[in-house]
Amino acid sequence: MTARIIDGKGIAQQIVDEVRLGVEELKATRGVQPGLVAILVGDNPASQVYVRMKTRACQEAGIRSSTILIDKDSTTEEVLRQIEQYNRDDQTDGILIQLPLPPYINEGRLLQAVDPQKDVDGFHPVNLGNLLAGRECFVPCTPAGIMEILKREGVPLKGKRAVVLGRSNIVGKPIAILLMHHHATVTICHSRTENLPRVASEGDILVVAVGRPAMVTEEFVKQGAVVIDVGMNRLNDLEEIKKVFGDDPIRLAEYQKKGYTLVGDVHQARVRKVASALTPVPGGVGPMTTAMLLKNTLIAARRRREDD
Ligand code: NDP
Repeated sequence: MTARIIDGKGIAQQIVDEVRLGVEELKATRGVQPGLVAILVGDNPASQVYVRMKTRACQEAGIRSSTILIDKDSTTEEVLRQIEQYNRDDQTDGILIQLPLPPYINEGRLLQAVDPQKDVDGFHPVNLGNLLAGRECFVPCTPAGIMEILKREGVPLKGKRAVVLGRSNIVGKPIAILLMHHHATVTICHSRTENLPRVASEGDILVVAVGRPAMVTEEFVKQGAVVIDVGMNRLNDLEEIKKVFGDDPIRLAEYQKKGYTLVGDVHQARVRKVASALTPVPGGVGPMTTAMLLKNTLIAARRRREDD
């Protein structure tokens, strides 16, 4: 068997196009253009890239966006003041705080300070609680993107075994809850799980979010399973790159140019032989995460005006 490679980038583009139409409609009917504010604390280069990608995607969908750059030496209180300002600002529909934050900033306090109605990342405890209870909420973007992939690819979930590797608050736990709400029978694995390959290989659907480059090989995967590779790891060791990709000229060229190559948590070449479908890295879950942020911002703009 050779797995079908799921075109996450293509599905993400469909969503961006749908959001653009929704934004145009909101403008035409209500005179409202949705607005997103990204708060970036410090100078983490990867975070700067992610925020740039998100604001560029906003432009494409017709969403107003701005980035608030906060000095790396600022205090939690100073960041809180900024959040409160945008909570009050009627032009702002969505607020995102780019993670990770510098270690001396209190992440929990910041995430709790965002107005739940503007919490387009879905990290506020109110939204996480509503997600658990199956009520209306903002769903964190990566799990929301995975569900959209499964839906648009027509992957059956009802009664199926789903295995999630990873139990983080932003990926593992919410995706497990969503799969359960869609009537899959879900197992959550983590670093203490015994016989991990055996447990993982029970999944008709296997979602991998462990942050370990190419860790998941064919022995983790049931024949015919649908595998979602959430991982995004920068490999900058040439020996490691060769171990995963052999002499793949594209990967080697990327390494020569950038000094690293982007690798998922799944060993794609080996898993492709047993899975029925597989998301690539890059071009799988990553673009979906950005697309769902746009979708959440449009939803926020609509919901805030429902009672007008
Ligand atoms: P975290 O580091 O928060 O969580 C990793 C999880 O994996 C933990 O639950 C940990 O277990 C588990 N784990 C780690 N090592 C092993 C192992 N050897 N065996 C079994 N379980 C293990 O990561 P995130 O959830 O934030 O991210 C996971 C990956 O997804 C990363 O590569 C990240 O870059 C990527 N990511 C991609 C996104 C996208 O848009 N494509 C968005 C968000 C993340 P324990 O709890 O026991 O420590």
